[in-house]
Parts: sequence; structure tokens; C-alpha cells
Amino acid sequence: MLESLKKPKAGRDKPIVRVNYTMMKSNVEELENVYEFVKTYDIKVLQLRHANLTTPFSHLFNDSLFFHQNLYDSVISKVKKPFDNDKSRTLIHPPLFSEEPGKSTVANKKDCAYAFFNFIISSNGDVNMCSIGNIGNFYQHSFQDLLESKIVKDIHTSLLKGDYQTLCKDCYAVSEIGDIQQKSTFIQEGVMPDRLREFKIKVEKVVA
Ligand code: SF4
Repeated sequence: MLESLKKPKAGRDKPIVRVNYTMMKSNVEELENVYEFVKTYDIKVLQLRHANLTTPFSHLFNDSLFFHQNLYDSVISKVKKPFDNDKSRTLIHPPLFSEEPGKSTVANKKDCAYAFFNFIISSNGDVNMCSIGNIGNFYQHSFQDLLESKIVKDIHTSLLKGDYQTLCKDCYAVSEIGDIQQKSTFIQEGVMPDRLREFKIKVEKVVA
């Protein structure tokens, strides 16, 4: 497929190609010569992103660049130079850690909304809610049933009340800095399911 990018079909415009690359400690150094690759295949946009690691990928936490910030900064500083001099290609990357000294490198657990949309289904059917853990098995219950189960409702209620300390205590969920700290990034009031809106109203009443 990559070779076909170099030989566009007669009479057709060349496709605009964008590559998304998830960076980890184990692969970030592969990026050092990526500009040559991008030029060879006439790739227009290269987007780099951090890995969002939650259960069941906790064994990879140490591979996250949030724990190897100097490595990330030194590689990306080199990678971006040729892109800075070539206006025909775009490199999109998370900010250098040295440029964001005041920001937390770990998601703000208090405002984290992953529990409402980050579910991972393993090949054996186990369904994990972000780093909070197992909420059931896909082969035994439909995903809809799992979402409406007591265990999920209880977890969501606790989180909406602000009781995240116990549920999230072992979490090293990482995200591109900033996004996860805005609940509005993920939950728009206008499209919030009734069940969540009811919880929010109840919580607001309790707090009031
Ligand atoms: S365990 Fe808590 S902090 Fe971690 S991703 Fe889930 S909701 Fe967010």
C-alpha cells in the first residue's frame, strides 16, 4: 500500500495521507528518522500521541512516556526540526514536558470522565471499566445490560459524588495533558443520558 502512494493512478489527485503514531518508551526512538519516511511516501500529516493506558494494560505503565519525560523531550526536539523547515508537511505532537512545567503529568482523577466511556473488552469477554476494573463478562451479559448493571450505577454514583480516592487509587491513566481534565471534553450536558442527568441532579441537591 505504501508503494502505491508513490505511484498515483493517472487522472486522479494524489491522496492526502496522514499517519497517527502512538508513542511508548519502546518505540519513540524509532521516530528519529521519521521525516525521511514521511518525505519518501509524501505523507502530509504525522500525528504523534501518547498511549492512553488503562486496565488491562497496567503492565505497560512503565512504557508510558509520562514516566520518561526527558527521553520524550529529547527525541521530539530532534524530530520536529525538519518539519519546522518544511511547510508542506505537518507534525502534530503533544507539548514537550519542559514547556509545560506547571501542568500535572498524571490525569486529574477528580475530574476524570474515563469511567463513563472507556471500556475495554478482552478476547475472553471480560469487560473492564478504565482502570477501575472488571464489571462483568460480555459472553454472559450484553454490553447494554452491563452498562445498566448495579455495579456500574454504583461506581458512577460514587464518582459523581466525588468519591474517587478508593476507586481510582491504583490508576496511572494517562492522557494527552489537559484533555482529560475537562469533563466537558467528554460529557456534553445536552446529550447526557437521562440516567446520568438524574445522578447529577441528585448530587447537586445533596451538595446544596
Ligand atoms: S480509575 Fe479513575 S482516574 Fe483512572 S481512568 Fe478510571 S475514572 Fe479516571
